[in-house]
Amino acid sequence: MVRIAQGLLTPQAQAQVQAALAPGEALAGLASWADDIRKVRPETGPWHYVDIPLNSTGLDMMRDCPKGNCVIAKIEEFRDRWRNPSVSAEGRREALLFLVHFVGDMHQPLHCVDNSDQGGNQVPVVFQGSATNLHALWDFGLLRTMRAEDELLGQLQQAITPQVVTEWSRGTVEQWAMESWRTAQTSVYGPLPAHTPDQPVQLGEGYAKMAQPVVEQQIEKAGVRLAAILNASAQ
Ligand SMILES: [Zn+2]
Repeated sequence: MVRIAQGLLTPQAQAQVQAALAPGEALAGLASWADDIRKVRPETGPWHYVDIPLNSTGLDMMRDCPKGNCVIAKIEEFRDRWRNPSVSAEGRREALLFLVHFVGDMHQPLHCVDNSDQGGNQVPVVFQGSATNLHALWDFGLLRTMRAEDELLGQLQQAITPQVVTEWSRGTVEQWAMESWRTAQTSVYGPLPAHTPDQPVQLGEGYAKMAQPVVEQQIEKAGVRLAAILNASAQ
């Protein structure tokens, strides 16, 4: 996702990003920093998701983003901080690292939905013979069955035409989150076979075939939108 974004940065945005990193540091290698610090900064936990109820009419910021502690408000906050030249170098660097991570998180549909199951973490799944849960499946499980990373990157980049860059760069952070929530309805929960709560859901080839293009497009959208945010900030 980060490598997709980097390929779309303007020279000015690229220079700003480089200036915020230490020599030899790569942005892609820092994408999990926000997860690494969760234990020592527990207040950042709710910043990784927004709980839009699965069966609702959609986002209600008052209900779903209390006190601005959700991924939508934090992307907006860190975008503004990254943009602000009067913020310290350290503060801007931290804003960049949060942005990179949260734009990715927001495009994982289970980070934008609440079905009283901790974003799918409490839904046991058996996928192609191995035990996992619905959240982990959408985090990594489906990716693992896809192509090797470099091959996948090339394939995803080919799908990103100037036309989709324009289309996906439009809209607000709230609209992007709503889109991810709709994807959770139509592609994550909707196609789940009927199951009893105490039995793991059996998912096989059919679910994987449906879900993989969705995962790919979410990664592409995240890359395009991270680039859109960083490019707009560099103007
Ligand atoms: Zn996260």
